[in-house]
Amino acid sequence: MNGHSNQMNAAQRLAGVRDIIATTERIAGRPAGSAALIAISKMHPAEAITSLIEAGQRLFGENRVQEAQGKWPALREAHPDIALHLVGQLQSNKAEDAVALFDAIHSVDRSSLVTALGHAMDKLGKRPDCFIQVNIGAEAQKGGCAIADLPGLLAEARTANLPIAGLMCVPPADVEAAPYFALLDKLARDHGLEGRSMGMSGDFETAIMLGATHVRIGTALFGTRTTA
Ligand SMILES: *Cc1c(COP(=O)(O)O)cnc(C)c1O
Repeated sequence: MNGHSNQMNAAQRLAGVRDIIATTERIAGRPAGSAALIAISKMHPAEAITSLIEAGQRLFGENRVQEAQGKWPALREAHPDIALHLVGQLQSNKAEDAVALFDAIHSVDRSSLVTALGHAMDKLGKRPDCFIQVNIGAEAQKGGCAIADLPGLLAEARTANLPIAGLMCVPPADVEAAPYFALLDKLARDHGLEGRSMGMSGDFETAIMLGATHVRIGTALFGTRTTA
């Protein structure tokens, strides 16, 4: 009974978010499906994820390697067509685990990590797509490379044979996100990059209007997390 109603909720939430994405793509004059929905399942148990898989979602994201290692191997075995992206900060000593588990890494933000990922990819013979995370609001406590360091880091990533899919950002909280999305879009254009990983539950429509190719949505799909 409980499982059934959870499943209905997950399906309805997913349908609602997909509707908004499709409408926004249309308003922006963008092709249908040009903004990919990454369901961010951090802090949510396998049952909640399974409900969303049964509702048709196939692209998921986690923010911690260790948490993902606990939850995802069994889910991926049961659903081999799933893609899993890492959206949270990555320590260099977890680079090999991340390359082994994830299909894309959105948080490449410093030289030491580029080096570690390059070695891990060479060793494992697997090259997940990489997004360079930009500290778009120049916030001291946040991950992401400084805007001024982006050209150098991109060059290092290319030398290390990281497949660069695009740029990623998490704008400052509690202020209008649009200027930061517009800035990430401009940086991606300046560097000839396709991917723009930007937009979360509270601001994904704005992000799509401003060019997001990947929106990362947790709360609007799974409900609120008990801890952040
Ligand atoms: C948690 C998280 C999200 C999803 O946030 P919601 O507000 O729950 O949609 C997106 N991106 C990153 C990097 C996150 O850590």
